[in-house]
Amino acid sequence: MKVSAVLQENWKNEVTSFSFEYFVPKDAQATQLLYDRIRHMSELHPLFIDVTWNAGGAARKTPITTTELITKASKSYNLETCMHLTCTGMTEEAIDQALLEAYNGGCRCILALRGDPIEGHDWESSPGGFAYAKDLIKHIRKKYGDYFEIGVAGYPEGNGEQTDNELLIDHLKEKLDAGGSFVITQMFYDVDNFLKWVDRCREKGVTAPIVPGIMPITTYASFVRRVKWCDINVPADFMHEMELVKDDPAAVRQVGAEFMSSMCKTIMEKGHIYHMHFYTMNGEKSSRTIIERLGMLRN
Ligand code: FAD
Repeated sequence: MKVSAVLQENWKNEVTSFSFEYFVPKDAQATQLLYDRIRHMSELHPLFIDVTWNAGGAARKTPITTTELITKASKSYNLETCMHLTCTGMTEEAIDQALLEAYNGGCRCILALRGDPIEGHDWESSPGGFAYAKDLIKHIRKKYGDYFEIGVAGYPEGNGEQTDNELLIDHLKEKLDAGGSFVITQMFYDVDNFLKWVDRCREKGVTAPIVPGIMPITTYASFVRRVKWCDINVPADFMHEMELVKDDPAAVRQVGAEFMSSMCKTIMEKGHIYHMHFYTMNGEKSSRTIIERLGMLRN
């Protein structure tokens, strides 16, 4: 299955779909829990699942690798998979090894990224590695032709290093021109800004499907932490509502789910975008609640 072809088709026919992002857990117990969760969530029929690559810039020791998790999801749970791959700390040889493992693991889609910097350092490329996501994309295309479909990252509110949004859209277009075929965005809570950004991308010649990254809200503390980390805007009304309930975890989840569902609805109704990509943070409930509220579950 080509993810972008299905997205294009669903876009045309106004058919809804969703996908789930997971990360590699740091211990064996969490890994077993995640396996069970992915298998359980496969029953919701996501269009694909994806697994991050050293996200946050922490190259820590984990009981399994991204490629092993991808292999398990595609071979044991029969899921369409998309593997994140970054340039951070990676030589060309290491990238080729990861691509080979993805290929052998039944994966047909790579989310090609420059990668977060290593914690506490400015980003720099590895000797013999790549400087930008677009260079990684060109490399994948050269080695594997059209075998892998390639997704790229988009930033409706800048990416920390680069706040010039026009330039960021130009860089996004370069990644698509180099061989990317769909875009997944950074999380956001400002839907009006997102819709304006999509329009601007279209005006600048981005024709590929754009998939919004949806970060469900599980706790007030993690909500505030992520907003700070990604440096994104929270509409004042919503921030006020969250502050009113911040000491009541159940109310935080309820207000969060209401807001996120209404945001997804607006994206569908005004943006005519029908695929939602959930940053699950390896949990099920909060993404599932939004999917159910939107009536997106297929039997
Ligand atoms: P690029 O598009 O290569 O851009 C990197 C920087 O270089 C940007 O500032 C850009 O403006 C600039 N640039 C690009 N082209 C040029 C050019 N021609 N000339 C000058 N400057 C240029 N990080 C991880 O480590 N692991 C993950 O699994 C991961 N998953 C992610 C998933 C999504 C959906 C998103 C949105 C981000 C993810 N990230 C992940 C974070 C991402 O790697 C960082 O935000 C990183 O800083 C940028 O990666 P990129 O692929 O967008 O890089």
